[in-house]
Amino acid sequence: MKRDDCIFCKIANGEIPSRTLYEDETFRVILDLGPATKGHALMIPKDHADDLYDLPDQTASAALVLAKKMMLRMKDRLQCDGFNIVQNNGESAGQTVRHFHIHLIPRYVGDGQQIGWKVTNPSDEELNEIKDRITGE
Ligand code: 5GP
Ligand code: ZN
Repeated sequence: MKRDDCIFCKIANGEIPSRTLYEDETFRVILDLGPATKGHALMIPKDHADDLYDLPDQTASAALVLAKKMMLRMKDRLQCDGFNIVQNNGESAGQTVRHFHIHLIPRYVGDGQQIGWKVTNPSDEELNEIKDRITGE
C-alpha cells in the first residue's frame, strides 16, 4: 500500500519524478540526490514498509536478487572498484526516510568516503552474555 504522506511512496510510484535506473512491478531504483559517490542509488519498493522489520519476506528476498543485478550492471557501466550495500533501520541507525530502502554505493579507489564503524573491544563475558541473550529462550 502507498502512503499519501510518504515521499518515497510518491517517488517509487512515479508521482514525483526521479532519475530512474530500473523499474519493475515491485521496485524503483533511482539516483540518490545526495550521493556518497558517483552512481549512489536507492532501491525503493513501491509498497510502503517503514523498514526491514516491516517488509514482507517475498519483497525482502527479491530485494537482494535485484541488488545483485544492479551491482553487476553498475560495476560494468561505471567501472567502480567495489560496492557497499547499506540499509538503515531506525533513527539511531541513521535512517532518515521512514520508507524501506537499500543504498547501492559504488566505491572507487581513493574516493575518500568512509562507510563503517569504530571497532570496540568487549570482554569474553560480554560476548558470551550477548550470545546467550540472542540465542536463548
Ligand atoms: P537514509 O538515511 O534514510 O538511509 O537514506 C535516505 C537517503 O535518501 C539519503 O541518502 C538522501 O540523500 C536520499 N534522499 C532523500 N530525499 C530524496 C529525494 O527526494 N530524492 C532522492 N533521489 N533521494 C533522496
Ligand atoms: Zn512510503
